[in-house]
Amino acid sequence: MILLTQDVEELILRDSRKRLPEEACGVVAGRRSGRVKLALLALPCKNVSPVPEAEYEISPRELLEVAELIEEEGLEILGFYHSHPGGSPVPSAIDESRAVWEGASYLIASAEGSLASWLWDGKKFIREECIVLISFSCSGMRGK
Ligand SMILES: [Zn+2]
Repeated sequence: MILLTQDVEELILRDSRKRLPEEACGVVAGRRSGRVKLALLALPCKNVSPVPEAEYEISPRELLEVAELIEEEGLEILGFYHSHPGGSPVPSAIDESRAVWEGASYLIASAEGSLASWLWDGKKFIREECIVLISFSCSGMRGK
């Protein structure tokens, strides 16, 4: 299961719209407790694929930079996100052939602006429960 803050969900969907007709991509970071992940950060990365309308690729150098940043924040990489500008949020054959991080979440934003998460178990993608935490303010309870 992966829990997303509303900010993380909005950032991914906004980034996906902004980069049309190309696929957006980035890294998702946060904390992990057993099989539950809490995504607190989404970091957009450049799509360096030669055909960015059909697939995504993050450069190893940018991934390293992002990984260092995440470590400095005291967080860990939980997985990746990318968008499918022309389709449903289901992993493609290319996504499957390139998935390498066992246990990582692969979030996919659809053309309609919905988000789905897939867990890579080392052999295949398994649909993963993805819950957005609605942020709320308690300011009304803060004294005078
Ligand atoms: Zn894909």
